[in-house]
Amino acid sequence: MKSMYHINQIPSERPIKKFIRRVVFGKNVFCPECRSRKVVVFEQRYRCRACRLKFTLLSHTWLKGMKLSYEKFWMVLWCWTTSIPVSQTTELTGLSRQAVAHWHDLFREHLPKDHVILGKVVQLDEAYFKGWSLVMGKEQGTRKIAFMMWKTSVERYHAVQFLEQHVKPGSKLCTDGAWIYRAIQHWWPVDHEWDIHKRFEFGKTSEIEGMFGILRTFLRRMYHHVTPEKLPDYVSEFQARFSSPEIFKDPRHYLAKTLSLVPFD
Ligand SMILES: [Zn+2]
Repeated sequence: MKSMYHINQIPSERPIKKFIRRVVFGKNVFCPECRSRKVVVFEQRYRCRACRLKFTLLSHTWLKGMKLSYEKFWMVLWCWTTSIPVSQTTELTGLSRQAVAHWHDLFREHLPKDHVILGKVVQLDEAYFKGWSLVMGKEQGTRKIAFMMWKTSVERYHAVQFLEQHVKPGSKLCTDGAWIYRAIQHWWPVDHEWDIHKRFEFGKTSEIEGMFGILRTFLRRMYHHVTPEKLPDYVSEFQARFSSPEIFKDPRHYLAKTLSLVPFD
């Protein structure tokens, strides 16, 4: 395995472990199974005196079995939160492309999943990407976006499904003049307005149309190649980055939101 470069953005092992301990256990380590605080430490491991469970800092989190050093782990995560291109991450960490992709999958998988309901004024539009159709909505003037994807072209019932899932009744809905949105207010209670592109009207949907461009640029710049099967996961990641930029400020913010004790059985 190639060795990693050292840069000042990456803390050393001790503060990383200290931070992770704080996120996982709070001020005092307790047993992840019986919650007893009668815990003894020996050689990087913990043992519960009440139920005899042996555990480590990560054994009861989604990072259990981590094979990377803490510093290398932090570097992969830092590169990801900072949107550093994959090719740069492999150079910096000395990890293979596959290893980096594996970690990215894990980071993506553990992003908080909030079901988004858009309200007030909602801009809606559809786009086609790598064999998928993508319907995306944006609450105008905010960073709230929601999307749904299908393997077929978009029909009216897809648009209606999107409204049912993601748009608050009584909202104002702005679309282009596509037929799939015609009379849509009869399927979901919205106040529908639309632009007619042939007449060079674009104002009502300019924010959501801009989003597709930002998405394409993000995917190309950071990942270079995205396989069609995985596209929905990447769009989810994009949504999280756009709507919740605070999670991506640095690894600390991401871990504080995603790393906790997971129930074991
Ligand atoms: Zn215990």
